[in-house]
Parts: sequence; C-alpha cells; structure tokens
Amino acid sequence: MNNTELWQSVLAQMQFNISRANFATWFQNTEIISKENEKIIISVPNAFSKEWLSNKYNKLILKILHDIDDSIKDLDFIIKPQPLKNSALKTISESEKTEDAQLKFDEFKINKETNLNPRYTFDNFVVGSFNELAHAAALAVADSPGFNYNPLFIYGGTGLGKTHLIQQLETEKATIQKKKKVRYISSEKFVSAIVSAIRTNSMESFKASLSPIDVLIIDDIQFISGKNKSQEEFFHVFNSLYEKNKQIVLSSDKPPNAIPELEDRLRSRFEGGMIADVSLPDYETRLVILKTKLQEKNIDLPEEVLEYIAANVKKNIRELEGALNKLLVYNKINQTLDIETVKKLLKGFVFSPFDVANCKKIIETVARFYNLEEKNLFDPTRRKEIVKPRQIAMFLLRKELKYSFPAIARKFGGKDHTTAIYAYKKILQENEENNKLTEELNLIKQRIYSG
Ligand code: ADP
Ligand code: MG
Repeated sequence: MNNTELWQSVLAQMQFNISRANFATWFQNTEIISKENEKIIISVPNAFSKEWLSNKYNKLILKILHDIDDSIKDLDFIIKPQPLKNSALKTISESEKTEDAQLKFDEFKINKETNLNPRYTFDNFVVGSFNELAHAAALAVADSPGFNYNPLFIYGGTGLGKTHLIQQLETEKATIQKKKKVRYISSEKFVSAIVSAIRTNSMESFKASLSPIDVLIIDDIQFISGKNKSQEEFFHVFNSLYEKNKQIVLSSDKPPNAIPELEDRLRSRFEGGMIADVSLPDYETRLVILKTKLQEKNIDLPEEVLEYIAANVKKNIRELEGALNKLLVYNKINQTLDIETVKKLLKGFVFSPFDVANCKKIIETVARFYNLEEKNLFDPTRRKEIVKPRQIAMFLLRKELKYSFPAIARKFGGKDHTTAIYAYKKILQENEENNKLTEELNLIKQRIYSG
C-alpha cells in the first residue's frame, strides 16, 4: 500500500467517525507526504488545520493508521500552503482605497449603525462542543480573512448564536489590528440592495462599492431561496469578491444542500469553503451561558434557580436569555425569588417533549424546512420537490410517533397504506446510504424537539 492508498483508507474510516461538515473542513487538502521509520507525516493546508487536527483528531487518526499498519507508532502534521487561486489581492490599488469614501449604499450604512450589536463580542460568547467548530472557524477567518476558508458558511437553528458569532467578526481584535473592513448585512437588505441596483441599472457601482470591503458577512442567506434574479447577480458579486480574495461569511438556518430553490452554481460556491454548524448546547453549557449573562449584568441569582432554568429551558439560547430576563425583571421588583415562583414564571418557556412532537409539529417542521406550505405535502403530485418531503413526513410520523401505516395513509388523504410503508422503507434505506439525507433528518428532528 502506498501513501496515497494508505491515506485514502484512513479518510474512508474517518468519515464514519465525524460529521460531514467537520470532515470536509479538516481533511480537505491533506495527504501523507512521508513515512519515516515509525512515523507518518501528514501535510495540511494551514496552521489552523494543523492545530485542530493535532489537538482533536491525532489519537483517532493514529489509531486508524495503526490498525492498518501496526508498524506506525507516531504522527505529525506539517503545513503545506495551497497555491492561491488568484493573486488579485496584491493588486488592490490606491484607487480602490479612495473608493472607500464613496461606499454609499444606504443599506450598509443603516446596517452598520443600527443592526450591529456592540454586545456581540467574542468575550461574552460561550464556546462548547455545540458550536466550537463554527467558533474556531470564525476566529481563523478574523485572523486572516480571505485566506483560510472562503466562504465560511455557518448554519443551525434559530436562536443558537449565528448572528452573534458572525457579527463579532467586526469587533474581533485581529480584524481591528489589521484594519480589516468588515460589513455585516442581513440577506433581506442585501437582496433589496441588489434589486434596487438592478432597477436603477447600477449593478457595476454596487459591485464597486463592495470592493473596499475585506470581509462581507451576509446573515440568513436562506432567504435568497427562490429569488432567481437576485441569485444570478449575487453569483457575480460573490465571484468578484472571491477572486480578489475577499472573505465572504454566510449564515443560514440549513446547510447549502438543503436550501430549496437555490441555483446549483451558487450552492457549489457555498459549499466550496468551510461549512460549520451550531447546534444545541447541553445542560452544563446552558448553565455557563446563564452565568455569563448574569456576570455581564453584574447580578446574582441563587444557584438553584439557575439550575432550574438550565435544566428546563432547552429550546435555544435566545429562549434561555428570555427566561433569565423575565426572572430578572421580577426580581428587581420583588427582591426574593423562590423556586416555586420561578416555576410559575417560566411556564411558557419550559420544554416538554410530549407537547412538541405531535403530528402537526412534524408536518409543520418538514414543510418549513423545505420551504413548502403545509398543504403542499398533501398535494397528490409526483413532483420531486414534494414527494421527498412527503415521504420524510410519513417516515417521521412512523418513527417518532409510532403511527400505524394505515393511520399515516389516512392522514395523507386516504392513500393506500402500502404508499406509507414504501415511504418509510425508502427513507430508512436512504438514511443508511446518503449522508446528506441523514443530515437533513437530524436537523428536522432537532427542530421538532426544540419546540
Ligand atoms: P441566531 O442568529 O442563530 O438566531 P443569535 O445570534 O441572534 O441567534 O443569538 C440569540 C441570542 O443568544 C443572542 O442574544 C446571543 O447573544 C445569545 N447567544 C447565542 N449564542 C451564544 C453563546 N454561545 N454565548 C452567549 N450568548 C449566546
Ligand atoms: Mg440570526
């Protein structure tokens, strides 16, 4: 077995051990470059990968290598920079610097003044296994925008810290020190800027206005779904920034491959850099987040109260903060806060799995995930965009709620129950074979169970 084959078989096994996003991120552009005595040397594209791989995956990689060839006892990583796809960065001219003053798109100004939340800094951002990949990626991007991973694509459910994470790039020390220009914009505003540029025939000056920017952050890019003209222009904007090694950071509520009605070429651009997810924090992390929030406000609450919130408010971080704020308001007026009062006050926040996973919730979540209306799922159509979500809804009714097949068939307009059986088996099997589907199912389930 030569080095390439050896590495291929390591990669094949790594894929089963870590998530797709992690795998794509950390193992892209890696290879074994030598095997000396008992030591394997692996080349990685940058310092960031090196650090991450040697801290997180060293043991696992070594174990896999050792299982294949037991003479291998040690492992090291070296950095082998990738040739830059384009050297346009070096040619950014003085004329572009003066254009800075002309950055006149109102959307950006308004955004910069009002939308950026100065509270969003790296200091008050709690990192745990639920978001550490996204966090590390954002730091790497702040450190050398345009060079590590472009674009950086962060996805996850609502209230899990995407906006916080990407806005803080603006205030991050490295960005400030290096005088990097960061612009944050919501995708609604970005789309409306594109639409107005198309209308006034000023696409070129719109693009020019972006050129002084080093890091362009677009929040909630999933809203571009179905907006064909905007997608087309965005594709060109994207390319022109990318070619100049400008950093692009995107957030979305789902991964690129699950955004419906997205042009393939944009999808492949989105997938071309690093994709990192944020998920739900666990109990311990929720407790740390609560304590961080209190510290920020310089207030104390009894440990018992904090533990109650952390144990019961599980939907997302926004709700966690909401629950805390509600108690703080009460506390301010009433001074004492006993656990019985807390329970009463937080009724609306408390999560109960039995309340959330019902049929309505499954239908609603699946429809929303695929940008469909709920009634579309019941359309008697064979269109691919509908058939798959419908099969997934049937699958989840069976798997999560133990509905009988005839009951599922009744739910879906009296279809023959063999249709329900077929849907269940098909999704079950595809789930085994297709990572993309597994990822989608996980996200959907996460959303169903997060209330
Ligand atoms: P999203 O954009 O994913 O919907 P936000 O970034 O708006 O979520 O986060 C919701 C709230 O939770 C914000 O007030 C944010 O400050 C807070 N928050 C999210 N993640 C964290 C974290 N890791 N540490 C501290 N606060 C967080
Ligand atoms: Mg957000």
